[in-house]
Amino acid sequence: MFTLRTVAQPDTLEAAYKLVTEKRNNTILGGCAYLRLGSQTIPVGVDLSKLGLQYITEHSSTIEIGAMTSLREVETHAAVKNCGAGLLSKAVANIVGVQFRNIATVGASVFMRYGFSDFLTALLALDAEVELVKGGRMSLIAFLDSPRTKDILTKVIIRKCNGHAAYQALRNSAADYPLLTVAVSRLDGKWRIAVGARPTRAKLAAQAAARLENAGQEITAAVTEEAARLAVSELPFGSNRRASAAYRQAVAETLIKRAIAEVAACK
Ligand SMILES: Cc1cc2nc3c(=O)[nH]c(=O)nc-3n(C[C@H](O)[C@H](O)[C@H](O)COP(=O)(O)OP(=O)(O)OC[C@H]3O[C@@H](n4cnc5c(N)ncnc54)[C@H](O)[C@@H]3O)c2cc1C
Repeated sequence: MFTLRTVAQPDTLEAAYKLVTEKRNNTILGGCAYLRLGSQTIPVGVDLSKLGLQYITEHSSTIEIGAMTSLREVETHAAVKNCGAGLLSKAVANIVGVQFRNIATVGASVFMRYGFSDFLTALLALDAEVELVKGGRMSLIAFLDSPRTKDILTKVIIRKCNGHAAYQALRNSAADYPLLTVAVSRLDGKWRIAVGARPTRAKLAAQAAARLENAGQEITAAVTEEAARLAVSELPFGSNRRASAAYRQAVAETLIKRAIAEVAACK
C-alpha cells in the first residue's frame, strides 16, 4: 500500500499542475486502484475532485469525457453506448468487475498508456483526442507517440460518427488483464484496426486498414484473411508471463478476422 504524506484538493487546474510538477513524487490521485498496488511514499497526493472533471457531455459532433469520470460511467452512459456502435462501453465492460470500474478513472487509464489497456485500444479505433493542461489538445495517436512528461489529462474527446465497430479480447481468466485486445471500426467510411496488449500498448494497423479501404464494399472472406495477416505482420508482438509472442500472433489473427467480419456484416 502507498503512503500519502498530505493530500491537496486544488481549486484550479493551474494550481493542480503547479503542485504535481513541484516535486518529482507528487502524484495525481485518480481512483487509486492502480496506485494502491505500489508501496511508494507520495509527498503530496493531488486530488482533482474539486475541478469538475467528472462528466460525460454530448455536443452536436463530439462527446467529451472528463478525466475523473469512472470507467463504469463510460460503460453505462447512453451517449457513449450510441457512439461508434458502443465500442467504448463494450471494451471497458470486462475490466475486473463493476465495483472496480466504479473507482478506476478515465484520466489515469489514458495518461498511463498501459500496454494491456482495453480502453486505449477502443479509443484508437474511435480516432479520439485528448486534452492536457500543459500539452493542450491533440490526437490520441500524437499523445501516445509523445515523450512521457508530467502533465494532467483533463478530458477525452470522441467524434460522433456513423458506422460500426467491434471489440474482441482474450483473457486467461475473467478478471485477469487481457493477453490481447482488438478493436475494429468502419466509421464515416474509414476502417481502423487497433491491436493492444501485444503486450505493449495499442497501435493501429495502417496497412491492413488500407487493404480493407481498397476492397470497397466487397469485404470477402479472402480480403478479411489477408487484412488480418497484414495486421499481424506489420505490428510487433512480444512475450510475457501471460502469453508468448507466437501465441499472441495466432490469437490476433483470429480476433481481427472476427472483428472485421462483424463490422463488414453491418450494412
Ligand atoms: C488489478 C487491476 C486490474 C486491471 N485490469 C485492467 C484490464 O483488464 N483492462 C484495462 O484496460 N485496465 C485494467 N486496469 C487498469 C484500470 O482500468 C485503470 O486504468 C487503472 O486502475 C488506473 O486508474 P485509477 O483511476 O485507479 O488510477 P490511479 O491508481 O489513481 O492512478 C494511476 C496513475 O495515473 C496518474 N493519473 C491519475 N489521473 C491522472 C490524470 N488525470 N492525468 C494524468 N495522470 C493521472 C496517477 O498520478 C498515477 O500515477 C487494471 C488495474 C488494476 C489495478
